[in-house]
Amino acid sequence: MNPLADALVVPLQARGDAVLIRPDGSEMPGDALYRLSGRIANVLVEAGLQPGDRVAMQAEKSPEALALYLACLRAGALFLPLNTAYTIAELDYFLGDAEPRVAVCTPVAEAELRPVAEARGITLLTLDGAATGTLVERAAEMPEDFATVTRRADDLAAILYTSGTTGRSKGAMLSHDNLLSNADALVRTWRFAAADTLLHALPIFHAHGLFVATNVLLRVGGRMIFLPKFDVDTVLAQLPRATAMMGVPTFYTRLLGDARLTREATAHMRLFISGSAPLLAETHRAFEARTGHRILERYGMSETTMSTSNPYDGDRRAGTVGFPLPGVEVRIVDAESGVEVPRGEIGILEVRGPNVFKGYWRMPEKTADEFREDGFFVTGDMARVDADGYITIVGRAKDLVISGGYNVYPKEVEGEIDGLEGVAESAVIGVPHPDFGEGVVAIVVREPGSALQAEGIQSSLRDRLAKFKQPKAIFFMGELPRNTMGKVQKNTLREMFDDVFAEP
Ligand code: AMP
Repeated sequence: MNPLADALVVPLQARGDAVLIRPDGSEMPGDALYRLSGRIANVLVEAGLQPGDRVAMQAEKSPEALALYLACLRAGALFLPLNTAYTIAELDYFLGDAEPRVAVCTPVAEAELRPVAEARGITLLTLDGAATGTLVERAAEMPEDFATVTRRADDLAAILYTSGTTGRSKGAMLSHDNLLSNADALVRTWRFAAADTLLHALPIFHAHGLFVATNVLLRVGGRMIFLPKFDVDTVLAQLPRATAMMGVPTFYTRLLGDARLTREATAHMRLFISGSAPLLAETHRAFEARTGHRILERYGMSETTMSTSNPYDGDRRAGTVGFPLPGVEVRIVDAESGVEVPRGEIGILEVRGPNVFKGYWRMPEKTADEFREDGFFVTGDMARVDADGYITIVGRAKDLVISGGYNVYPKEVEGEIDGLEGVAESAVIGVPHPDFGEGVVAIVVREPGSALQAEGIQSSLRDRLAKFKQPKAIFFMGELPRNTMGKVQKNTLREMFDDVFAEP
């Protein structure tokens, strides 16, 4: 028994049809992907890999990169995908912390990484997006037969390093059961089936593209149009072959920026899903007005994979992340007391269920800090539940602004600003203020052609928000700083505007 390999990889053997479709239209059939996973698993074992060892990958997205993940499942290794944006200094930390047996990098990064890997006794192999590199060269010489290693449900399958906006990045340890139970819950909730073709334009170094997208489609025997990255032209060209798409909110705003996104172009689509960052209610509405599709928003994080989702049938409510997934429990508690808050009030969102991770790699104290005694994991996200049970994420606890002793939830202020004529989007942060502790600052992106000024925004907010919530300073930027998953980098903004209230 090997829960994930049995569910996701072994069935590929019997599939002569396409599982992955490349942007040029060429296909990778299931049986070929299966054989490649066997060859790569043999490469890993030849490098001395034992079950439980880690395999790190920082590589471009490609069918071969996915085959490496599948090979890890078969060999009982822990897959450790790394953001392609990480620098050598960051990689050095991850390799030192996770101590992988094998690391796979791009040919370009090899020269710089080799001394780091060698000093740590790590076998370094290369892979590029065009299916070349030492990993594929060695795999070609290996037999395709590989006896899949036995694993238990609670054995680990992957480590995902959190984006780590404060302090050291932590490795979230995910088990076979975490990932498989979540894939099954999502298949049920979103009605995925063998007939589905997913337009896959997400990176595969993150839970969204790797687990939510790939595990779900492999689980049902579907297909993926496997694009190396999101690009409006390619996505629109590939859309006719797809039945569903998963994206971060920026995918949807960029598609809306193109006149070729129409009702006709999307009429054949079954489902559009969004997650990883908040989807503006306005984007949800604009997408429906243009295409007739109501985007289905869901919520999760590296530590829990997916926790909540809007319904497939029934009202997909803009600005909410829906209900807990089957088998997942969610509660909203007061941050300090840990007591559940009355319905409708804001508190910290906590999660318990088979989806919740096994802890942070080699950080037992950090792990203990973030679990309650009854097994609930403290997500650090602030949320509220409405009268119908829909959950709304209000922001991260660490983004909460406390001004003059009052709590200001940035999302509430952002919502008011975003609703103003001439505003494309906004970000609200707290920065040090001599009188108030923290002062509310808004960073606003204007709509093209708008000449909106700070005074105009201030006066519009005057009768809409309590005085303590109104921004004490407003700045304009051409765009907000975002990471690859579409999350606004509030840390960067806080650093940029840190001294606006400083006394001379
Ligand atoms: P990561 O671990 O990189 O996947 O980041 C997880 C975080 O992304 C969560 O803790 C939330 O703060 C945020 N997030 C994910 N999905 C949503 C969503 N639909 N709405 C708002 N925030 C989200």
